Amino acid sequence: MKIGNYTISVIEAGDFGLDGGAMFGVVPKNLWSKVYNIGDEQNRIPMVTRCLLLTSPERTIVVDTGCGTKLSEKLQKIYKIDYSHNSLLSSLANHGVKPEDVTDVILTHLHFDHAGGATFFENGESVPTFNKAKYYIQKDHLAWARNPTEKDRASFFIENWEPIISNGMMEILDGDGELFTGISVHQFNGHTKSLQMVKITDGNKTLVFPADLFPTSAHIPVPFIMGYDNFPLTAMDEKRKILPQIADEEWIVCFEHDAFTPAGRVIRTEKGFSLGMKVEL
Ligand SMILES: [Zn+2]
Repeated sequence: MKIGNYTISVIEAGDFGLDGGAMFGVVPKNLWSKVYNIGDEQNRIPMVTRCLLLTSPERTIVVDTGCGTKLSEKLQKIYKIDYSHNSLLSSLANHGVKPEDVTDVILTHLHFDHAGGATFFENGESVPTFNKAKYYIQKDHLAWARNPTEKDRASFFIENWEPIISNGMMEILDGDGELFTGISVHQFNGHTKSLQMVKITDGNKTLVFPADLFPTSAHIPVPFIMGYDNFPLTAMDEKRKILPQIADEEWIVCFEHDAFTPAGRVIRTEKGFSLGMKVEL
């Protein structure tokens, strides 16, 4: 798909699974099971780590990086991490992109399933995966990640971002704004502090990558929020505020963790909002 100067592709960076109950918070299984696969015998629902590739004649931009290759075997098992179908680098290679071609990496936030692929172990040392790129994170999120609460501490591993900062490759953003013509970032605070949603628009067509604000298409309805969210009422407010605009302006929403629906439009229903048409990128 093309928007403005950019060709937009989804980059599948591996499969994983999280507890269905945790993914749907207070929504009972007999409701969420109508809109999402109920998963395996350990109650882990099928999920993916989907990233975006935005290419123009000048830039090759990656948004989020999946779980990466640094997790212990124990954690890989817990989270059912599976690279047998695809991985960040194999999917980029399928699009003719080598790590050194990437000019920019926008990290929505630093939870390991978004930032794990930002670095990799080389001779036992964590180094940036994209050695010529500039990486971007929000200042308030970085502060949160460096001093996490007990609630989301298990999702933060400093080897995913500190080597990028110490190499001088991280641009620490302070607020919303346009990063490049037609590409802007917008903060949300419900899931974690200062997660940045990426928006690509040419004034006519708009695509958003909201990360864990809408992790799957089943999370479109306002009350369908995750047990993982640090500030659930804030997450609901943020969804309530943005959904009318998403629906009425026919934005395409890319769902980072949805194993079945990579992207789609949102429609109004008598009960609120839900997935409309799926969209192929
Ligand atoms: Zn997250």
